[in-house]
Amino acid sequence: MNPVITADDMRFDAEHIWHPYTSMKNRYPQFPVVAAEGVMLTLGDGRQLIDGMSSWWSAIHGYNHPHLNAAIKQQTACMSHVMFGGLTHKPAIELARRLLSMVPEALQQVFFADSGSVSVEVAIKMAIQYWHALGKPEKNRLLTIRHGYHGDTFGAMATCDPVNGMHELFSGVLAQHLFAPAPDCGYDEEWDENDIKPLRELLERHHQEIAALIMEPVVQGAGGMRFYSPHYVRRARELCDQFGVLLILDEIATGFGRTGSLFACQQAGISPDILCLGKALTGGYMTLAATLCTQQVSDAISAEGVFMHGPTFMANPLACAVANASLEILETGSWRSQVTEIEMGLRRGLAPCRALPSVADVRVMGAIGVVELKEPVDMAQIQPRFVEQGVWVRPFGKLVYVMPPYIMNADQVDRLTSGIYRVLTAK
Ligand SMILES: *Cc1c(COP(=O)(O)O)cnc(C)c1O
Repeated sequence: MNPVITADDMRFDAEHIWHPYTSMKNRYPQFPVVAAEGVMLTLGDGRQLIDGMSSWWSAIHGYNHPHLNAAIKQQTACMSHVMFGGLTHKPAIELARRLLSMVPEALQQVFFADSGSVSVEVAIKMAIQYWHALGKPEKNRLLTIRHGYHGDTFGAMATCDPVNGMHELFSGVLAQHLFAPAPDCGYDEEWDENDIKPLRELLERHHQEIAALIMEPVVQGAGGMRFYSPHYVRRARELCDQFGVLLILDEIATGFGRTGSLFACQQAGISPDILCLGKALTGGYMTLAATLCTQQVSDAISAEGVFMHGPTFMANPLACAVANASLEILETGSWRSQVTEIEMGLRRGLAPCRALPSVADVRVMGAIGVVELKEPVDMAQIQPRFVEQGVWVRPFGKLVYVMPPYIMNADQVDRLTSGIYRVLTAK
């Protein structure tokens, strides 16, 4: 039985509950959702929507998945939570084993964090503690590229794009980091060595004060949905080695198959010193993230003392158990053909959008499809139109984008893309 959400509930929600990036005045409409199954969301009035968002990159196997449900139930019967200070447990050990078997070999230690933003905070702390331990405490700034997004907490926010990352609002409180221009060389374009020049110049000039370069490899997510050349990532790795700077890769969005490879750094054939994972880690069931590092990083930090982080719900057993179940599904390997199918469907289905006068660009990589508009959307207006078309798509700014659950079939991808096309033609 689905719950009933009354008009009174909706009024209460509007008056008392913050939603992501919304005002408590002039609210966009919120849609009551009462159930989710496979790739479909069911609204309070019974309407069914094809979910194009995977609940922000996370629900890669779809909703109400029997294997994931079973993992949670089984773990609940055993132990829902226990502190991780001084205690350890099988779900965490299994999950760390699994993660280490999937990521580049150089990564050897796992820190379980509670959300993507926190895993970025942890990565930043690791980099700063690393240089402190090596007797170079002056290496405490970060270098990053524009159009990045690394989370909403203060440390992470300071590495987000300065223009759309709220730097102005929080100036004076945010750490001042170094920003290179976003890579210009597109994913499929021939590599142009000039593209890396600004990053090299910043490293040349500032390497003595830089702890780490942090970036999202190949696909920049919430900072602009930009795809760029894996060569850039490879050259960035070389420059970090050359100038003695750690490389933090944020694969919170790109990880676990989304771009067509298990991790985007594999497209560049490189390994970071520190890797952030989150979002799809639990198949979208619970909040959990992880920060992985090399032996070299953990040895240096540990030689000096302890690593200074330890959240209350660290390595929550329910979250670890469902993450294990999600990784088991990935280990079957069927995600590869699923992502390829979706990629073909998105290419085919979104191509007609190119001809629309309101559209600036259409791009697809793996199970990610982006229609970039010339002008920002009017959210209050466009969101209900998607719902009328039977699809759940949540644009931001000029970007109408989708990253469907991997289980979405060709017909559903087609309905999703034609829904987007119809909404954009009605504009
Ligand atoms: C979503 C995201 C984050 C932040 O994760 P939260 O779980 O929302 O804190 C960080 N980096 C990238 C690349 C992301 O996509």
